[in-house]
Amino acid sequence: MQRLFGTNGVRGITNDSMSSELALKLGKAIGSYFEGNIIIATDTRTSNEMLKNAVISGLISTGCNVFDAKIAPSPALQYYVKHSDADAGVIITASHNPPEFNGIKVVDEDGVELSRNKEKEIEKIYFNERFKKAGWNELGKVYDIDILDFYIEGVLSLANTEKIKEGQFKVVLDCGNGAACYTMPYLVSQVADVISLNAQPDGNFPGRQPEPTPENIKDLMKTVKATGADLGIAYDGDADRAIFVDENGEFVYGDKSLAIIAGYKVEKKRGKVVTPVSTSSCVEDYVKTKGGEIVYTKVGAPIVARKMLEINAVFGGEENGGLIFPEHQYCRDGGMASIAMLELMAEKGKKLSELVKEVPSYYLIKTKVKCENNKEIMERLKNKVEGEKIDYTDGIKVYSKDGWVLMRPSGTEPIIRIYAEGKDEKTARRIADRYKKLIEKELGRD
Ligand code: MG
Repeated sequence: MQRLFGTNGVRGITNDSMSSELALKLGKAIGSYFEGNIIIATDTRTSNEMLKNAVISGLISTGCNVFDAKIAPSPALQYYVKHSDADAGVIITASHNPPEFNGIKVVDEDGVELSRNKEKEIEKIYFNERFKKAGWNELGKVYDIDILDFYIEGVLSLANTEKIKEGQFKVVLDCGNGAACYTMPYLVSQVADVISLNAQPDGNFPGRQPEPTPENIKDLMKTVKATGADLGIAYDGDADRAIFVDENGEFVYGDKSLAIIAGYKVEKKRGKVVTPVSTSSCVEDYVKTKGGEIVYTKVGAPIVARKMLEINAVFGGEENGGLIFPEHQYCRDGGMASIAMLELMAEKGKKLSELVKEVPSYYLIKTKVKCENNKEIMERLKNKVEGEKIDYTDGIKVYSKDGWVLMRPSGTEPIIRIYAEGKDEKTARRIADRYKKLIEKELGRD
């Protein structure tokens, strides 16, 4: 059976692997599967109108009614789907990818990204072209809706904002010309003084590329320092991820902010924190000192979210700035992350740089080995590895005295990814090299 959905929905390059024909057919397949009311939203990309209209056309041809929320962050759409009686949601976004990309993501009626089983059902309809056809008098209707205030109010209703004094914080927001423009300045200005960068929606992304990396958010780092702000926050294209900058203008890596907020959450309510096996040990170490427990999953935000639901976790997230707050919803949520960080800083009376220092530091190296039959090689490696502890949650993770390595076959490319972590760069490099050689030996390349 052919596969259409990747780890983050269907992604591709506009008018190439992501075409209006694909969007139309996928709209028909989604509509045939759900047969109900569907809410749709987009980020700010130039190809959104083309793809959204094609998806809507497909949906209404099957008899589904469509509620068009226009441009909105993914978490705003997911929150609305969860609380309304809609049967599903569709988001047109390529998240952090460059401007020429776009994608189609489907969320279930509970607002959580679709499970793999349901994706398979939709793929089956898509590839067999078994589309439902509504009669001329049964076609779906399209309605406009506004979901943004509902999301902003939802986030604020859960925040302990009374701890934040008026005028206490100055925050610089980098909306990256993405969906964040429509909510984040309005949300954060309810609790802090806000300076906004790149807050004009623009699918050409003139301010910066959509992924909040240290290279892409240099302007934010400079502005935080120059304005004497307490915090900087940068969002990706669909505003489900939030990356922080401390009061000195220093980039705070996503594993550190994940650890800080996870530690705060387990202090409040003892319990489990869910994160993928690829996450730095700094999160586990820090969460343990606060009395919490870590549960590891395979890589992928929807997998983390579904595991959190299953075990009733208190918090979860990924090292890329995707944080999941179960009291709000089971998906990555840039708005919740922003308010939670301010709430935490107010309660602790600490600057972000001080909070970062409390989290242990490790060095992580990501590399890869080219390998055609990557899944078969991974099977063979299972008998070749030795360590203090071996974890098969996703690929093979081997813990040694001075760190760990994770080897995973890519699902889409002929490669094996290697993540190696140690106390310092030298150790991490030694671990990475050792396992790279082991894989190459297995490939007969030594
Ligand atoms: Mg995203």
